[in-house]
Amino acid sequence: MKPLRLAIVGFGKIARDQHVPAISATEGVELAAVADPVASLPGVPHAPTLADLLRDGPEFDAVAVCTPPQIRSAQAATALAAGKHVLLEKPPGATMAEITPLSAAAKAAGRTLFTAWHSRHAPAVEPLRRILAERKVDSIRIIWKEDVRVWHPGQAWIFEPGGLGVFDPGINALSILTRILPQPVFVTSADLAFPANRDAPIAATLAFSDAQGLKIAAEFDFRQTGPQSWDIEIETDGGPVALSQGGRKLRVGDEMQVDADKAEYPALYRRFRELAADGKSDVDLAPLQLVADAFLLGRRRTVESFED
Ligand code: NAP
Repeated sequence: MKPLRLAIVGFGKIARDQHVPAISATEGVELAAVADPVASLPGVPHAPTLADLLRDGPEFDAVAVCTPPQIRSAQAATALAAGKHVLLEKPPGATMAEITPLSAAAKAAGRTLFTAWHSRHAPAVEPLRRILAERKVDSIRIIWKEDVRVWHPGQAWIFEPGGLGVFDPGINALSILTRILPQPVFVTSADLAFPANRDAPIAATLAFSDAQGLKIAAEFDFRQTGPQSWDIEIETDGGPVALSQGGRKLRVGDEMQVDADKAEYPALYRRFRELAADGKSDVDLAPLQLVADAFLLGRRRTVESFED
């Protein structure tokens, strides 16, 4: 089989930390080029923008769009118009509606559009989904709290409009939630804390429900120092189940059933390779819909200014 030749657009933290090693580790996928205003990888062709790469760069088949979400959809549209398959980092865009023309363009061109939700590939997620399929869920509590200064140093875009603020990590929890439950859920209340000097929330208290009235509570906070929390605690008719460390661990009752370091990104690239081979798309906007609805419904509070 011919390898899928990839260009990474936006060579920042996630591209370097996860995409490059995952591409190296995935059979049938190879890195052909990088587009980024400044950053590059020795030995790999580089251009400052995707347009430059398309004009002057080497041949490639697909693009992994790893830029900040505010500029993602225009780049994805350019890539699809050039006949490339497109992987969108999470969140797939800065708005819901901008994804619709991308889906249509991918379909018309017979190319792949893939909204990549990396947290769904954490090792505890699939076992948890299978357990919940057999049980009645009584309540869910999500605690997703991390130190923005540690995980997003110097990323000004995250607090700009469309950067999502604390929903940038929080959407990972929502991508897990919308995967492990068979039924759709919706936002019932949202309290959003905006720093006085920023345009995106630094913390959020959220409630969700489903058609049967299930109670789901979530706490997102970017101001967590010390131990970090990426946990989902679930009460079920068969006892408690807890996912922790972003999906690396799964405790069922008293028993730790999953405790693994398994990487998430190689699974994304295996899926992208399969989709591209068939010219099929995989577009799921459910996590972004919940974030958009939290902004629609949310009560806004102004809190202390945030300085990097
Ligand atoms: P980042 O470190 O700020 O990287 C973004 C990169 O895109 C920067 O190198 C930036 O260059 C570059 N860029 C800006 N405009 C560009 C353009 N027009 N063409 C090409 N490149 C351009 O951000 P990140 O942490 O990698 O996050 C990127 C996306 O991945 C976000 O949506 C985030 O949610 C997602 N993600 C991040 C993580 C994580 O842990 N960091 C995990 C999973 C997913 P300049 O800096 O020079 O502007």
